[in-house]
Amino acid sequence: MFVWLPALAGLVLLGALTLTAQPFQLPTANHALFEPGGEEKFFVPTVGKPWTTGCFGCVRTDGRQMHEGLDIRCLQRDKRGEPTDPVLATADGAVAYVNRKPSLSNYGNYLVLRHQIDGIEIYSTYAHLREIRDDLKIGQPVKAGETVGIMGRTANTREGISKDRAHLHFELNLFVNDRFPAWYNQKFPGQRNDHGLWNGQNLLGLDPRAILLEQQRLGTKFSLLKYLQGETELCRVVVRAKDFPWLKRYAALIRPNPKAQQEGVAGYELALNFNGIAIALTPRAASELPGKAKFQVLSVNEAEEKKNPCRKLIRQRGSRWELASHGLSALELLTY
Ligand SMILES: [Zn+2]
Repeated sequence: MFVWLPALAGLVLLGALTLTAQPFQLPTANHALFEPGGEEKFFVPTVGKPWTTGCFGCVRTDGRQMHEGLDIRCLQRDKRGEPTDPVLATADGAVAYVNRKPSLSNYGNYLVLRHQIDGIEIYSTYAHLREIRDDLKIGQPVKAGETVGIMGRTANTREGISKDRAHLHFELNLFVNDRFPAWYNQKFPGQRNDHGLWNGQNLLGLDPRAILLEQQRLGTKFSLLKYLQGETELCRVVVRAKDFPWLKRYAALIRPNPKAQQEGVAGYELALNFNGIAIALTPRAASELPGKAKFQVLSVNEAEEKKNPCRKLIRQRGSRWELASHGLSALELLTY
């Protein structure tokens, strides 16, 4: 007994560790993502296009348009051919936002959950739902794998989503700025912002497929923080701003700089990925800042810009790179 009990306790503990080290689960019963060659069974493409158009990234309109999440194929339908797959929380977390007015969004009925993983605040978004569970309220805790709704094809777009293409649109996002509504009012005076903080511009997508596959590959060694730190850099930019919400929310991404700590921080050098996510932030002293401009591009990874050009954050003028209007707007929001 005395030998057996600790062994059992060890197993239970091992089980718990495995669970915490594998934070993300697939959001439906469709697990073909993990099957070799299972892509056709997992992704729903756009009409007449290959499965890759259901992936995350510059996959739409011949690479010129961004798709911020994964379009996951349904496995079950009712008599009328409508999808009925339960939609499951990808990780432990809490309800952040519920939109039950499909006419107000191209995401239709959608749900956003907030998670804390590896010290990183990350959000998951589930769109085009037929139903969102009635009892879900803002702040309510949910468990990984818990049913939060039913797959559907709601959207306010004119062309809609055909029965054939019914899917779950699934995103993993980082949150940009708590002052988004004020920034939006200033930037787009008179324009409606039906979803407040939960406007898509305030949520920057990561590639859920890459994260899920990396987690599968590394098992208990997977770390969301390391994953983010390993994202490919598109460019480096200096910002003359030293107090913005990203610094607090994603403090784990800040790199040490003794000189700035000694002389005082006057700004930050940011490494951005192609989607505008600040994957590394290094404080800079006034003496280390290159000029007076509020934002300045320091370097560009041209191979990455060529590979993922659809977000158009930067542009080339002669031999020099500068921020394009999308990049400027992304940094204005980040540092607002
Ligand atoms: Zn989609």
